[in-house]
Amino acid sequence: MEWLALHYRFMIIDAHCDVLTAMEEQGRSLADVGRGGHVDLRRLRRGGVGLMFMAAFISPAHRERATVRALELLARAYEELEKNREELMPVRCAADMVRARVSGKTGVLLAVEGGEALAGRLEVLRMFYRLGVRCLTLTWNGRNELGDGVGEEGTRGGLTRFGREVVREMNRLGMVVDVSHLSEAGFWDVLEESAQPVVASHSNSRRICPHRRNLTDEQIRALAAAGGVVGLCFCPDFIHPTEPSLERLLDHLDHIVSLAGIGCVGIGSDFDGIDGVVPGLEDVSRLPNLTRALWERGYREKEIAAILGGNFWRVLHQVLPRQDLAL
Ligand SMILES: [Zn+2]
Repeated sequence: MEWLALHYRFMIIDAHCDVLTAMEEQGRSLADVGRGGHVDLRRLRRGGVGLMFMAAFISPAHRERATVRALELLARAYEELEKNREELMPVRCAADMVRARVSGKTGVLLAVEGGEALAGRLEVLRMFYRLGVRCLTLTWNGRNELGDGVGEEGTRGGLTRFGREVVREMNRLGMVVDVSHLSEAGFWDVLEESAQPVVASHSNSRRICPHRRNLTDEQIRALAAAGGVVGLCFCPDFIHPTEPSLERLLDHLDHIVSLAGIGCVGIGSDFDGIDGVVPGLEDVSRLPNLTRALWERGYREKEIAAILGGNFWRVLHQVLPRQDLAL
């Protein structure tokens, strides 16, 4: 069981989950056990997760009140952080990552999924930063003030002028730019604009599974060349059109590694944001199965460490502020 010991030795980073929305829909909190969903405190512990991105997802239903929606979900995140201080801690800077690692707590990195939450204003972005938000998924599938999402394909719409300003301001503040859900034209605009590595927090390879939410080979190569990381997403539809499985997910990994090396891939499960799951990855507690599958496929210790969290650690360490100096 060499792989099991390995699993719990590594800093595991999951770059995307929707537990904030799921808790609201399912009327549960993180400390509840056996209340459904994919993520709670007990399952995070079993999964060995050291750092979790928690997204305030702005669904289209909340488009007209996106800023308030983001605040509602962030308030829920802070309630959970407060109630569970023994097990969780917010991660706002590189020093916090080390603190989370040393303390054995699960770090929580707050994210907003959907730049409509900014209401078209950099001031709102700056205030989200002060509220601890360190990652912004620029768009969801539709169009917002920053640019077009993947659902707008055919328009060739990329980033707007405001979208470019947001990328530059996020670079300045120390926030991670997330290109998952963004249109292809938008993706290339971000790479042109960003002085820092960017992430695709939850996307797979379009060559392996032709889904619009997955990335082309050219996108993966360019993102990797800029120091970025793709988070492997466990959504069955992004894995295989007819026979999604853990093994087919690893086909995405193999392909991405063959294109751009071991340094550009991580995990972005999308737990609590996906309807279906694949056998072996039913919830976050099952992450050791991923390590076993990696081991059995011939990935070695250093490579597994990079995939499970080392690569996202590198990007976060580079992008986040060294210390949290917010007033
Ligand atoms: Zn998403």
